[in-house]
Amino acid sequence: MEMLQAEEKLDPALLTGGSQDRARRRRRRWISATAASYGVDSLFLALFAAAATIPAAIPVCYGIAAAVLCASTYLANAKGWNLRWRDPNLTEPLILVAIVLQLCVVVAAPQVAFPFLANLFTVFAFGMLWLTLRNAVAMWSLGVFGTGIVFYLAGGRFAAPTGSGLEVFLMWAYFSLILGRCLLVSVAANETRMRLSESRRQLADTLEQVQRLASRDELTRSLNRRSVLAALERERSRAERSGTPFCVAMIDLDHFKRVNDSYGHAAGDAVLRAFAAAVHDTMRMTDIFGRYGGEEFLMILVGAAQEAALEAVERIRATVAAHDWRAIVPDAKVTMSAGLAGFRKGESVEKLLQRADRALYEAKHGGRNRTILDQP
Ligand code: GH3
Ligand code: MG
Ligand code: MG
Repeated sequence: MEMLQAEEKLDPALLTGGSQDRARRRRRRWISATAASYGVDSLFLALFAAAATIPAAIPVCYGIAAAVLCASTYLANAKGWNLRWRDPNLTEPLILVAIVLQLCVVVAAPQVAFPFLANLFTVFAFGMLWLTLRNAVAMWSLGVFGTGIVFYLAGGRFAAPTGSGLEVFLMWAYFSLILGRCLLVSVAANETRMRLSESRRQLADTLEQVQRLASRDELTRSLNRRSVLAALERERSRAERSGTPFCVAMIDLDHFKRVNDSYGHAAGDAVLRAFAAAVHDTMRMTDIFGRYGGEEFLMILVGAAQEAALEAVERIRATVAAHDWRAIVPDAKVTMSAGLAGFRKGESVEKLLQRADRALYEAKHGGRNRTILDQP
C-alpha cells in the first residue's frame, strides 16, 4: 500500500491564474504571424505595382490598413481589452476585417483578383480553428454577400496577371506562399489539439492528486476515517459476493494520554506519525490501514482468515513494542492494543466494528500491549 513520502503540493500554476499569461503570449505570437502574413500581401502588392500591373496607391492603402489593424490588435492584447470579449482571440472581428480587406483589393485591383480571392480560403481556414458553427455561418454569409458584390462590380475584369515573365514569377511565388500559409494554419490547428490533450492529461493528474490528498489523514498520512470506512464497505461487499475472508483490527495506542501529559501534544503527534510509519513499513502491501480517530486506527486484512490475520497484527504489535521511541519520548514505552474480528457472511460493517471494538476493550482490560481475537 502506498504512503505519501513527502508533503505533496499541487502545481501552483494550476491554482493561480498562471495560464492567463501563457494565453496572452500565445495571442501575441498569433498577432505577429498575422502581421507577417499581411506584410507578405503588402509586399506582393508592392511588387505588382513595381511591375506596373496595379496602381501604387493600392499597396500603400493595404499596408496602412493592415498596420492599423495589427497595431490595434496588439494594443488590445497588451492592455487586456480583448478579455472583455467572449472570444479574447478576437477571431470574428479579425476575420471580418480580413475578408473586407481582400474584397477591397479584388475590386480596386481586379488585375490581381485571382490570388486575393484565394486568400479568402486561408482566412476561412484560420476561422476553422476557433469559430463556432453559428459564427462560421455568419462569416460564410459575409463571404457569400461580399463576393456576390465584387463579382457583380468587377467580375468581368478579374485576372491572374501573367503578361510578362516577372508577373508569371510573382504569381507563382505569391501562390506558393498562399499554399504555405494554408498549411501553417493546419499546423497551428494540430498544435492546439496537442496542447488541449496535454492540458486534459494535466487536469486528470491534478484530479488524481486532489483525490489522493482528500483521502489521507493530514497528521499520519495514512487513510482518513472516511476512506478507510469506504474501503471496509468495499471489502464487505466483495467478501459477500466471493466468499473470500477478511478481518478488521481496531488498534489503539496504550496510555497515550500519558505521552501527551508528560511530553506535550507535539511529541504525541510525533509518536502518532512514527507509529503510522512503522505500521506501513510492517504491514502487507495489500492490507489497508487508516486513522479511525484520535489515537485509534483501523486495519483491514484483505483475504486473511482469522489465524493469518492474528499473526499479522501480532507482528505489527511486536514491531511497535520493539521500536526505539527514545528520540521522541526518552523515558516512555509506546505500545498498542488490538481487537481483531473476522468478517461473518451477512454481517454489517457496524456489527463487525462493534465486535472488533469489544475485543479491543478486552485487550485493554487484559493488560494492554496485546491482540485479542473476537471468538465466535
Ligand atoms: P488507553 O490505553 O486506555 O487507550 O489509554 P489512553 O490514554 O490512550 O486513552 P484515552 O482515550 O483516555 O486517551 C487518548 C488520548 O489521545 C487523549 C487525547 O488527548 C490523545 N489524542 C487524540 N488524538 C490526538 C492527536 O491527534 N494528537 C495528540 N498528540 N494526541 C491525541
Ligand atoms: Mg489509547
Ligand atoms: Mg482511544
